[in-house]
Amino acid sequence: MPEYPDIVVYVEALRERIVGSRLSRLRIVHPFLLRTAEPRPEALAGKRVSGVERIGKQIVIALEEETFMVIHLMIAGRLRWFPESGKGPAKIPGKLGLAAFDFETGSLVFTEAGTKRRASLHLVAGREGLSPFDRGGLEVIGSTDEAFSAALARENHTLKRSLTDPRLFSGIGNSYSDEILHRARLSPFKLSSAMSAEETSRLRAAAEAVLVEWSERLRRELSGKFPEKVTAFRPEMAVHGRYGQPCPVCGTPVQRVEYAENECDYCPVCQTEGRLLADRALSRLLKGDWPRTIQELEALKAKNSTLGDPTDSPPPRAGP
Ligand SMILES: [Zn+2]
Repeated sequence: MPEYPDIVVYVEALRERIVGSRLSRLRIVHPFLLRTAEPRPEALAGKRVSGVERIGKQIVIALEEETFMVIHLMIAGRLRWFPESGKGPAKIPGKLGLAAFDFETGSLVFTEAGTKRRASLHLVAGREGLSPFDRGGLEVIGSTDEAFSAALARENHTLKRSLTDPRLFSGIGNSYSDEILHRARLSPFKLSSAMSAEETSRLRAAAEAVLVEWSERLRRELSGKFPEKVTAFRPEMAVHGRYGQPCPVCGTPVQRVEYAENECDYCPVCQTEGRLLADRALSRLLKGDWPRTIQELEALKAKNSTLGDPTDSPPPRAGP
């Protein structure tokens, strides 16, 4: 799911292209996309864009007279930009296309890969109508240790779950939570109630640094182009999506835990004092042989190397 850095570069790219421009038409291919009955899409035609904002992981296009289009990309939703060419509005791709927003300056095409239709569009009249989209999570950038600590203390969960809870923290999902926890040298399964003041401060600083650095990196890579390659997996990430590859800090193979419908990549040396986090599916597979440390895992791998070690490939997903 696109997270803070991805959403920020979308917002910036859109601001450059559509602020001040009129929406000539909103074309919706898949009716399920639109989750609101009022205002009608036709009522938005002719309105000028007054701004582009972010609420959590959502992109908000503000039109004049306090009318808003709230775009939630969910996991597989993406945006494409087709500058006005004089040849009429951009074609909406048949398989992936959900909608197109035709502005005077070009068409913004909303797509979603896969068959699960999760991405959404809400049309909202009046700024007060935006409040339900704000889940209340803290904006980490520019936050204080006190505010961060208060957000963390609101519920006792694992750090992984707390960071990705939009009611506690804004804009952080599966990818950047892995990166933040690695930067902070904290276990994803550590409980928020067990955090010392020093650890909380370290986590806040890591979260801010990771989000700022990644936003800057994405902005630099784009250098003015519209974001086309929005992905949760990037080779420059430290641990996320890098199962089995060396940790950039200590060289230990990155480990993965899968649970419920989420997964988590971490470095056992940097984050969990060498301990491996129990993965339900892998525990079952290995029966009582669950290695407790990275050294035991390496020894087990060496012992099983002739048998085809199940830990060589990513662990199977946990059952339903
Ligand atoms: Zn490491």
